[in-house]
Parts: sequence; C-alpha cells; structure tokens
Amino acid sequence: MLWVTAPFDPAAVIAEFIDAVSPYNPHPEAAPVAVVGLRTAYGEDVFTLSDHVIRAMCRALESYRDPEDRGDCAGCGGRHLDENLHCRDCGRLHGVLGQVIAEHMRRAAADGEAPRPGGPM
Ligand SMILES: [Zn+2]
Repeated sequence: MLWVTAPFDPAAVIAEFIDAVSPYNPHPEAAPVAVVGLRTAYGEDVFTLSDHVIRAMCRALESYRDPEDRGDCAGCGGRHLDENLHCRDCGRLHGVLGQVIAEHMRRAAADGEAPRPGGPM
C-alpha cells in the first residue's frame, strides 16, 4: 500500500494490475483487444491489454468508491461534501446537525423572524 502516500510510477500501477488479473484469464491465447501507449515522467511504456484485463477494469470501476465520496448535496446536487457533510459548492450542511439547522430556519421563517446566525436555536 505504498502507493497511498508515496509518489508512484503510473506505468508500474498498470503493470501491477495486469499482473494481478492475467493469471485468471480464461483465454490467454486470445489476441489483445487494445494496445495502450503511456508517457510519464518516468519514461514511456506500451501495454497490450486482453479482453480479460478490460473486463477486470470494468468490475474494479463498478466496485470503486472514492474515499472523498460522501454523497450528493441535497441543495445543489454537487458532489463535494467535506468531512463535516458541509457542501463546498453551496454551503448547505447535511447530516443530523444540518437537519436541525434547516428545521430551525424553517420555524424561524414561519414565525416571521429573521434567523440569527450563531443565535440560540
Ligand atoms: Zn450544495
């Protein structure tokens, strides 16, 4: 898991993925379905990709969940909620605290009083 924190060679990551899934290719004799050239700061590489590798990429993508994915904003539909479930795009606060604040704002609006930021709820 060195790749999580250290700089890494993208070509090495692709080579590792191919090495990890290739032993399970049910048709290793089949011709590659793609040839991919890769130019990075470390140099240039060419990878031949089998149908099995591409299908493995599809399965990996289906099961992938980004650690930054905290759902969509109910206000603007954005996908940038921070660790406090605060939308970086429109400012809406989600979660239990967000619901409490939203309810307070609705009550205050219904009572005809302007909500006071930072005031008692
Ligand atoms: Zn938002």
